Amino acid sequence: MELQNFAIAAASKSEISKPITQLQKWDAAYYAEKLKKQLFELDDELLKPYFKLENVIHGAFEVANRLFGLSFEKSTQVDKYHEDVMTYEVKNEDGSLNSIFYADFFPRKGKRNGAWMTSFKSQYIENDKNERPHVSIVCNFTKPTNTKPSLLTFNEVTTLFHEFGHALHGMLANTHYRSLSGTSVYWDFVELPSQILENWCYEKEALEIFARHYETDEVIPLEYIEKIKKAANFQEGLQTLRQLSFGMLDMSWHGINPSDITDVKAHERTIFEKTDLYPDVATSCMSTAFGHIFQGGYSAGYYSYKWAEVLDADAFEVFKEKGIFDRSTATSFKNHILSKGGTENPMLLYKRFRGSEPKIDALLKRAGLVT
Ligand SMILES: [Zn+2]
Repeated sequence: MELQNFAIAAASKSEISKPITQLQKWDAAYYAEKLKKQLFELDDELLKPYFKLENVIHGAFEVANRLFGLSFEKSTQVDKYHEDVMTYEVKNEDGSLNSIFYADFFPRKGKRNGAWMTSFKSQYIENDKNERPHVSIVCNFTKPTNTKPSLLTFNEVTTLFHEFGHALHGMLANTHYRSLSGTSVYWDFVELPSQILENWCYEKEALEIFARHYETDEVIPLEYIEKIKKAANFQEGLQTLRQLSFGMLDMSWHGINPSDITDVKAHERTIFEKTDLYPDVATSCMSTAFGHIFQGGYSAGYYSYKWAEVLDADAFEVFKEKGIFDRSTATSFKNHILSKGGTENPMLLYKRFRGSEPKIDALLKRAGLVT
């Protein structure tokens, strides 16, 4: 309703737009962006000076150090596939080698877009020897020039922390078989270690470590942090409904005999009706364009995006209660979840850490959907 009223008012002021009486699906993203700008006055250029890449990397390493006692030493001894790749020897608190970490942050010709984590070598135990992993994260951030450092958008900061969370899952692995090591877990559990780490990007105590102006060294102002948090929840209700509707559509295709579905569009309508806030577009059909669930590896698994949010919000509650750098909570997270890979059912691992099954309350609260 807020968006519709805003759009009606905005369109009536504009000379080129036709008047809007009913907001349509295709209007939403455009007016949402305008409304967001008006509400939060927060744009990337304002924040970027506080997120110099080197500072953010240092921040991620410092968080890993305070939580898990890991330290990262830049190494020139490790073979690498491109000169842009940075390599680190990761040490445990007792000085023993934990892993080798590769960071490949800049775009170049022939490199795929996006961000991801890879294990070149997973951890495993053979002949009583604990073989330590070689873990890499890959992103595509703006490359520094001679006069300007690489400055990240806040979205890129959370991306780096997200991939670093996957990397920690790989680094802290401690299982016998490599096929069950690190991130080799059920699909709907693999995003817990990555998404939980994103939470540190919204915490003052963590931001003070690395969110410093690259020219003045000034710590990011508190009001910006508040704005980042508020903006993160912008239209969260709509986003939640959207993700749920996709999850339900996916499940509907894989949960019943598809040959019983004779009319694709009619079937889709019965699912979307429960969540749709906009009028249906008769000529559109999401099912036939839903690459995730038919060829993208998310068959009957699209729900895992939302489910991982339930898990990470619920798990992060413990850190919020005990302190975001509380060592015993971090050790418990490492021992019960990160180190175990896929050796046991995720729910058992989770309950050992949390003491109970995850509840949705923390996610609803974080998303600003309940107070
Ligand atoms: Zn991920």
